[in-house]
Amino acid sequence: MNWQTFISSQLQLRKQNSTWRQRTRVDLSSARFIQVAGKDYLNFSGNDYLGLSQHPKIIEAWQKGADKYGVGSGGSGHVTGFTQAHEDLENALADWLGYPRALLFISGFAANQAIITALMSRGDRILADKLCHASILEASMLSDADLRRFSHNNVPSLQKLLLNEVAGKTLVVTEGVFSMDGDNAPLDALQNTAKLHNAWLMVDDAHGIGVIGREGRGSCDHYGIHPELLVVTFGKAFGVSGAAVLCDELTADYLIQAARHLIYSTSMPPAQANALSASLTQIRQANTARTQLTHNINYFRQNINQGDGLKLASSNTAIQPLIVGDNAKSLQLSHFLRQQGVWVQAIRPPTVPPNSARLRITLSAAHQQQDIDRLLEALHDFSTP
Ligand SMILES: *Cc1c(COP(=O)(O)O)cnc(C)c1O
Repeated sequence: MNWQTFISSQLQLRKQNSTWRQRTRVDLSSARFIQVAGKDYLNFSGNDYLGLSQHPKIIEAWQKGADKYGVGSGGSGHVTGFTQAHEDLENALADWLGYPRALLFISGFAANQAIITALMSRGDRILADKLCHASILEASMLSDADLRRFSHNNVPSLQKLLLNEVAGKTLVVTEGVFSMDGDNAPLDALQNTAKLHNAWLMVDDAHGIGVIGREGRGSCDHYGIHPELLVVTFGKAFGVSGAAVLCDELTADYLIQAARHLIYSTSMPPAQANALSASLTQIRQANTARTQLTHNINYFRQNINQGDGLKLASSNTAIQPLIVGDNAKSLQLSHFLRQQGVWVQAIRPPTVPPNSARLRITLSAAHQQQDIDRLLEALHDFSTP
């Protein structure tokens, strides 16, 4: 097959089954609004759950960091890219979350890849929830370990896999809050099950950190567990970007030796680490915002009218997916909402399982009741033309 045939047939396929993806050029976005092509919409597609992406103190911390350090870190952390700003952030994260060590990564995607590929090798096995994020599955496939997936949030399904003993190490991987479904993993039961079989537990809490638990410490704090590996990301509630893994001393030392994303990649700018420390300070104090977010979630769930084949998933978090099923219909609904001034992204396979295309509605503490009312009205108008 030649190049032209390959590329055009792939594109054709995606157009045919409504899985064509495209980017939208955004003028400006915040937790509450998004401006596209000069027009303002209510934003129900972001992950800025506490509205921190525009927080003046965090912006100021980034600016001060840039004044002090310049804009780039100049190298990987192993060369010149590990500054006081990075170290302070790592220490603050470790202290906040109750771990001996934290290591920073440029993104959650990189963190998951680095950790899994560094720790898991031939003869080992990775047992991951079926709905784990693409970065976890990708990392598992890249590693030489055996990957098995257990049914979503299903502890007996995990137990069954664990009954097959293997010679190597076992890593159980799940998310605190699932990114496309918004439901919580039964972390206490998963931790107990993993421990019984001498497996380590890795929790990716991209959507729980900052939002739930005491002072926003996330899903593990909420469930009272302490996984061997906790991944937190900073592109969601932290309002910035980047990630960290929390672990013990020896594991951190090992990752510094073995994690290729730390060794061969430029570290985050020191100014960004400075901004993240300021974001962490805000998160710890954000009880009012967290209460407002909970209020918004409850208000949305209590007032939605589930008619006409639209099914609200059972989620108590800021992620409130409306399952549509059909790809084309999910796009139609998304376009309809846009005409009503409401921005909600349709999520289609392969990001979600086949026939479960959905609108991934996300709520933020920055939304006001009138915003949610407008979203509810627009959804209602679509179902009752
Ligand atoms: C967003 C997300 C990631 C990736 O994090 P980035 O920092 O955006 O690369 C990883 N895991 C989960 C569950 C996510 O939702």
